Amino acid sequence: MKKVLSIILMLMCISFGASAAVKCKAITQKGTQCTRVAKKDGYCTQHYNMHHSGKPTNGAQCKAITKSGSRCSRKAVTDGFCTQHYKIEQFNKKDPNFKKKVEACYDANGKPLKASKDAERCQSPTKDGDRCKLKAIEGYTSCPVHFKY
Ligand SMILES: [Zn+2]
Ligand SMILES: [Zn+2]
Ligand SMILES: [Zn+2]
Repeated sequence: MKKVLSIILMLMCISFGASAAVKCKAITQKGTQCTRVAKKDGYCTQHYNMHHSGKPTNGAQCKAITKSGSRCSRKAVTDGFCTQHYKIEQFNKKDPNFKKKVEACYDANGKPLKASKDAERCQSPTKDGDRCKLKAIEGYTSCPVHFKY
């Protein structure tokens, strides 16, 4: 696949002349190709940064709406959802209040909430041997980050 792409790019370079600027390959939210000049890996600087932070560069954005009412900024992977939101959707079939309980673990800015008391604290250990300080999903022992869906 990579080989085919590079051959296509090579042919494009030959047909357009090596000096012709290559356009960024990212697709914008409107569904049109980005008009900026590709700088790195076929992306313009902005889309290169988006690509490397896991954000969508092909127009496919997770359709989940966060608590603050804005669209989830992650890349749609399955059924129009990012990996995490897809898992939540699936789990919500087992526990119909699951989505609401997960939302209750985030503040209005989409930041995970810290547990206000020990009883509601996530029981997962963190990398540095400490215990996670985040609020566990109601009725479960883990926060949304550590939860095994
Ligand atoms: Zn771009
Ligand atoms: Zn999402
Ligand atoms: Zn946790």
